[in-house]
Amino acid sequence: MIIESVAVELGPRSYEVLIGRGLIAEAGKRIRALAPRARVAVISDERVAGLHLPALRAALEAAGLAAPALVLPAGEATKSWDQLGRAVEWLIAQRIERGDLVIALGGGVIGDLAGFAAAILRRGVRFVQVPTTLLAQVDSSVGGKTGINSPQGKNLIGAFHQPALVLADIDLLATLAPRDFRAGYGEVAKYGLLGDEAFFGWLERHGPALREDPGLLQRAVRHSVAMKAGIVRRDETEQGERALLNLGHTFGHALEAATGYGERLLHGEAVAIGCALAFELSVRMGLCSQEAPSRVAAHLERMGLPHRIAAIPGDLPDDEALIALMAQDKKVVDGRLRLVLAHGIGRAFVTDAVDGALLRAVLAGSRG
Ligand code: NAD
Repeated sequence: MIIESVAVELGPRSYEVLIGRGLIAEAGKRIRALAPRARVAVISDERVAGLHLPALRAALEAAGLAAPALVLPAGEATKSWDQLGRAVEWLIAQRIERGDLVIALGGGVIGDLAGFAAAILRRGVRFVQVPTTLLAQVDSSVGGKTGINSPQGKNLIGAFHQPALVLADIDLLATLAPRDFRAGYGEVAKYGLLGDEAFFGWLERHGPALREDPGLLQRAVRHSVAMKAGIVRRDETEQGERALLNLGHTFGHALEAATGYGERLLHGEAVAIGCALAFELSVRMGLCSQEAPSRVAAHLERMGLPHRIAAIPGDLPDDEALIALMAQDKKVVDGRLRLVLAHGIGRAFVTDAVDGALLRAVLAGSRG
């Protein structure tokens, strides 16, 4: 068993992301080392708790830690005021205090919600991420963005609150539904597209084998985490470079809002379509060659991910409504639409000089 460590260096808020197989069995030991006298409380969702809570509990209990758990409904709708209130009140009832630890066992939904609950409980308690989806291991568990959705838009309520430790056990991904695995892969591909053409080339060669090969999967997770850790270290609160991680997200969030944040379109699928649209728009605006979007679409297709709006089942609002939803995304600055576009694969940049007519043409083209 090889456990790799990626450091997220943020001065007093620094922490380690441990990545490897069988890590959950070590959770008690690792968490004890972090906070020898702390009490812990676990937040998870129904699906994950049924599969992986017993192993986490056994590991915590072996280290002498009682592990009460709050099990919330699975799915994006859990990132709500109601469930946040439930989580915070439960943590207070468990007498989790300033020196104690909240443990998030789940995907991005649980990580975002439990992290936000930890951020606001007693003005901030520490929390540990035990990410159980590919998306959460490569992206949401690292970097300290926590929060919930507003009825008016996604992730509009939240806080920066860095975890104290991230334990990414590759073996937990084996129980993911194929569609959830593929959706998480959308975020893996994003790293290559935004800043590392060699990694994208590696993914073109190895992407289809990742699910069956834990060694390759661990490499992909470690590489993605290392990229995110570097970006977060340089720009923790998204004043500049961190915005590149939003490649595909302004399009994606609009499509998620248009489809009601549900099973119709998963977050990672929306990001995949968003990345394809960002590259299409980049070509139309004369920023990159046609080869780039062709490679993006071909790879997403091969991985079983959608890359066109036409792939979304059911009716969608018209282009003007989609653009209005894009403009509601929190990446908007001074009312101007800011997008991540690209000069080529691995060469993304942020711009607010977006040509509206070309944007409409790209949306229309992706529907047909
Ligand atoms: P999710 O947490 O809803 O998990 C997807 C589904 O997989 C759920 O039904 C869950 O119960 C199930 N599941 C989780 N782990 C499992 C496992 N090991 N085996 C079987 N089933 C399992 O969704 P997600 O895709 O992990 O995360 C999406 C969320 O992450 C979105 O809300 C998005 O906004 C957020 N996000 C946050 C950041 C950030 O920086 N904080 C970054 C990217 C995405």
